[in-house]
Amino acid sequence: MPVKGWIEVNDLYCKGCELCITACPVDVIQLDYSRLTPKGYHPAMLKSDGCTGCGICAVICPDAAITVYREPKKAKVPTA
Ligand code: SF4
Ligand code: SF4
Repeated sequence: MPVKGWIEVNDLYCKGCELCITACPVDVIQLDYSRLTPKGYHPAMLKSDGCTGCGICAVICPDAAITVYREPKKAKVPTA
């Protein structure tokens, strides 16, 4: 089962450059055309489930606007 992850985008830093969108291997990021950041850009956002928490978007973002979260793996419970 893939790791469940999610991202948060800091509106103060995102400039809508779309680098994270092209870098995401599972294509779950898009620009949010319903909002503008304080600087006047459409910010990146998660568009669907499926983020694996791989962190590539955070690494590629030139403005360090993305924080990646990963659900911790659940410990296996012995069945016997
Ligand atoms: S790479 Fe960073 S600055 Fe560019 S759209 Fe994504 S979050 Fe915003
Ligand atoms: S952490 Fe990985 S899978 Fe999740 S949005 Fe960023 S690049 Fe895509």
